[in-house]
Amino acid sequence: MKQIGLRSVVLLVLVTFFAACAGFFIFEYAVFGDDWAKFPSNRHLYNNGKLFKAGTITDRNGTVLAQTIDSVRYFNSDRQIRMATIHAVGDLEGKVSTGAHSAFWRKLTGYELLNGTYNVSGRGNDMQLTLDANLCVAAMKELGSYSGAVGIMNYKTGEIICMVSTKTFDPNNPPEDSTDGIYVNRLLSGRYAPGSIFKLVTATAAIDYIPDIFERTFTCERGVEIEGEWVSCLYRHGKINFKDALTQSCNSVFAQLAVELGRDKMTKTAEKLGFNSTITVDGIKCARSSYEVSGARNIDLAWSGMGQYNDIVNPMQYLRFVAAIANGGVAPKPTFVKSVTTPYGLNINFKFPGGGERLMSKSTANTLSDMMRNNVLHNYGESNFRGLELCAKTGTAEIGEQRPHSWFVGFSRTKPYAFVVVAENAGSGITVAGRIASRVLSQLP
Ligand SMILES: [Zn+2]
Repeated sequence: MKQIGLRSVVLLVLVTFFAACAGFFIFEYAVFGDDWAKFPSNRHLYNNGKLFKAGTITDRNGTVLAQTIDSVRYFNSDRQIRMATIHAVGDLEGKVSTGAHSAFWRKLTGYELLNGTYNVSGRGNDMQLTLDANLCVAAMKELGSYSGAVGIMNYKTGEIICMVSTKTFDPNNPPEDSTDGIYVNRLLSGRYAPGSIFKLVTATAAIDYIPDIFERTFTCERGVEIEGEWVSCLYRHGKINFKDALTQSCNSVFAQLAVELGRDKMTKTAEKLGFNSTITVDGIKCARSSYEVSGARNIDLAWSGMGQYNDIVNPMQYLRFVAAIANGGVAPKPTFVKSVTTPYGLNINFKFPGGGERLMSKSTANTLSDMMRNNVLHNYGESNFRGLELCAKTGTAEIGEQRPHSWFVGFSRTKPYAFVVVAENAGSGITVAGRIASRVLSQLP
């Protein structure tokens, strides 16, 4: 009797122990199952550390960007297409962490918590991207030897049709080291001094907070004095109004506006437009744009109003901002995944209609749009952007001793596309980024 009692106790202890272990395992599996499956030693998905079991990735026109044949993963046979799309498609070792192969590996491999990677067909889901591979190649060629990024997005749907980052590499012959930030997608993860493209933010604040802004006249004496310190302008604009100040990119006017608006209104506007928060593209977190003037003196605030001081811009955030101007104030939800199709032909890339976010009122957006149109007509040259009814702003961002970053942002009124171009240490905004935009936009579908 006494022995049976002892056995019962031992059995009870063992059963409790196993139950606890099973519970622990189920918990761990639920929480970490993804990571275990993704671990490159998982031979169901990886071969020598390289992903092979995944569906076919195509561009918006059906051009195959990556596919698996007999357990080997192949990229497009054209080297230029490989190099122009690698930051969106991603390499097979996960070095481009924002590329589809890494960021969407669950969708591509068909991984599910309950079945793991053993979906019935064993070949994963196919994914069509919103990118146009030929347009990506055009953008890569125009960026040439510059590091930088080109992004083009449909401002009505949020579909990104061009996403190019340079320096780039050929996934069939990847570099040994990662110098020049070669694995970084600069459109999503770059952070740059913006220079004068930031004047669009200051202009937004001025339109919203200064009722008589269009009746005012300002003075530019090849610069302006702010509390005993000099903010220089490239030209002596003399008497100038707000609209012409944006077209001529007059520093004197935007310095005065930023000081008049003050830290709170400038910060409030910048944050409404996406600064100081993280935006996402299909769940991928972009680098933050930041506007930080909490400890700024008036002279600092003046420089911040024209994209110097502490201002930092992520190209994707700015693309979303100019897309909102084009789209009556509403920023579409950016995406570069068009569809995800299971082996049974079912599209599992659910998208709810709408989903955009209003960044500014419709009237503010239309006013900015007209001012950006004026920039092209009276400064950048309509003949460089024929048939596009382009609205744009340049930026030449001073960065100490180095050559400035060259920026060009805007959108077309005849085709529903907004764009951002940034070329690092390339010099003048209109001369370099403007020329790149002109040539790439002429190839828009
Ligand atoms: Zn000026």
